[in-house]
Amino acid sequence: MTLAALKQAVLEANLATVRHGLVKATFGNASGIDRVSERIAIKPSGVPYEEMTADHMVITDLAGTTFDNRFRPSSDLDTHLVLYRAFPTIGAIIHTHSTYATIMAQARRPIPPLGTTHADYFHGTIPVTRDLTAEEITERYVEATGEVIAETVGSGDPLAIPAVLVAGHGPFVWGRDPEQAVLNAMILEEVAKMAWHGAALDAAPPPISQTLLDRHYLRKHGANATYGQ
Ligand SMILES: [Zn+2]
Repeated sequence: MTLAALKQAVLEANLATVRHGLVKATFGNASGIDRVSERIAIKPSGVPYEEMTADHMVITDLAGTTFDNRFRPSSDLDTHLVLYRAFPTIGAIIHTHSTYATIMAQARRPIPPLGTTHADYFHGTIPVTRDLTAEEITERYVEATGEVIAETVGSGDPLAIPAVLVAGHGPFVWGRDPEQAVLNAMILEEVAKMAWHGAALDAAPPPISQTLLDRHYLRKHGANATYGQ
């Protein structure tokens, strides 16, 4: 992927989060990485969405070194860097404070697979991190946020469940590319909304069966995926 194409894709992902109502004010950021050149493009800090162009995207390497000094990168850059280093298969990251996903993150409530909307995109429960320690918050907050996400994913496949709810904060979502990350962020908000409203009928509804979960997830994402071809 050329740098210009990466910047354009990351710009579009940032704009899409606003267009889909996932990001209000400045509570959000999207980035993407070209794994061949190991260049990351991320939303700049302090540039209004209405004025944002592909050229505003800040380019860094995996260590966070920036390659031009015209704009500062998003203040969440270090979280993105930790995740790109921890999960070599992901190609884009989106952070939002989308309402229902954030409600779940604030309630420390994981989102189990309650239906096939969830199963089409997330192959299991969307987890919540532990709370950061006082030391993590004081000494190395942004980086520690990435580390606690990686700790929560553990040895799991980050692309099988491409989102984590950061306790008391909000969701971080990813995908193979910026477009897929946007879709995952939208579906996450949708399943969080359904889980929230569903709790009015049944406080702890049973998750769908593993068979139904597999059926829906694997037809879109498995080695034998048949969906959408
Ligand atoms: Zn945030």
